[in-house]
Amino acid sequence: MHIPAPYFLIEEKKLLHNLNILRTIADEAGCKILLAQKAYSIYQTYPLLAQYLAGSAASGVYEAKLGRDYFSGEVHVFSPAFREEDVHSLLSLCDHIVFNTPSQVLRYGPLCKQASISVGLRVNPECSTQEGHAIYDPCAPGSRLGTTIANFDENALPLLDGLHFHTLCEQNSDALEETVRAFREKFGKYACRMRWLNLGGGHHITRADYDRARLIRIVRELRKEYGTEIYLEPGEAVVLNAGTLHAHVLETMHNSLDIAILDVSAACHMPDVLEMPYRPPLQGSGMPKEKAYTYRLGGPTCLAGDIIGDYSFDTPLREGDELVFDDMALYTMVKTNTFNGMPLPDIRFEHINGQVEILRTFSYEDFRSRL
Ligand SMILES: *Cc1c(COP(=O)(O)O)cnc(C)c1O
Repeated sequence: MHIPAPYFLIEEKKLLHNLNILRTIADEAGCKILLAQKAYSIYQTYPLLAQYLAGSAASGVYEAKLGRDYFSGEVHVFSPAFREEDVHSLLSLCDHIVFNTPSQVLRYGPLCKQASISVGLRVNPECSTQEGHAIYDPCAPGSRLGTTIANFDENALPLLDGLHFHTLCEQNSDALEETVRAFREKFGKYACRMRWLNLGGGHHITRADYDRARLIRIVRELRKEYGTEIYLEPGEAVVLNAGTLHAHVLETMHNSLDIAILDVSAACHMPDVLEMPYRPPLQGSGMPKEKAYTYRLGGPTCLAGDIIGDYSFDTPLREGDELVFDDMALYTMVKTNTFNGMPLPDIRFEHINGQVEILRTFSYEDFRSRL
């Protein structure tokens, strides 16, 4: 039986839904919104995104270059530590560079200023607003991400144009408000000397229940209070629910429960399922036992734990059935890997007129060339 290859599908219509919301927020709040490329780097769609956003945010030289080459607008970069060669490369790639420690500011700041690059420091407001996901909490005890007030070095102040914090993950604007309160208390005395503040990502702005009015109010208040420009750099919110992963059943079997082996792998194609961990939404399915037929869905790798989750269906699964996982544009295509020699799913793009374009296919060579 011929089973088609799996693929990611990004939908322009759903991207536009998010982008319109973000542009409205930016206009009403008077701030600039950047794409955090870490979540989504499908550069073929950057020209579309750039019509709605002010630029891109990078985690290092490669993302900065991708942003510079394909995303018009500003390029911002942050890394917990830069090597000197990185800073030299970034001089021609970025507009803003955010350092993690005052000593990196003192070491590389003068070079950046000479090249007319705006220099910032990431601070740690030490305000945890999330429970459960410690690996996504930059304010967790012992965090290396951002400078705490106790470690702030005022000698860096003359070099600083901005302050940056990123502490949220999939959160609403109440968590931002709480964080801004902690930031103001600790760093307010420095913020008023800055030209910009960057409030990082993790704002789930495009989610249906996100309180956008409150976000707009917070941004307006900060602009008024400190007289600075405000940046937001969401990743998830830009592409939330804008993509799907189309998989197929290869085989079913039984070992104390029904099991289906798919042509996609949690470990290779959606590693956050194991890392976060979470249960990805699957169209037409229910929770275990909710519908008549419950299966454990697993990947085709040799990893025992390559399990996507337990789902139930109205009818038994059969070889060749297509299963469509939702919300697969973010933190998936940027994280895929070829462990076990796994092929990578194609990447397709559905234009607003319904036409589907294949952006990328992969082959054996993509596996071989990495090694
Ligand atoms: C991850 C990250 C973002 C984007 O976060 P999302 O949760 O995808 O919105 C923005 N800024 C920094 C510094 C990050 O590390």
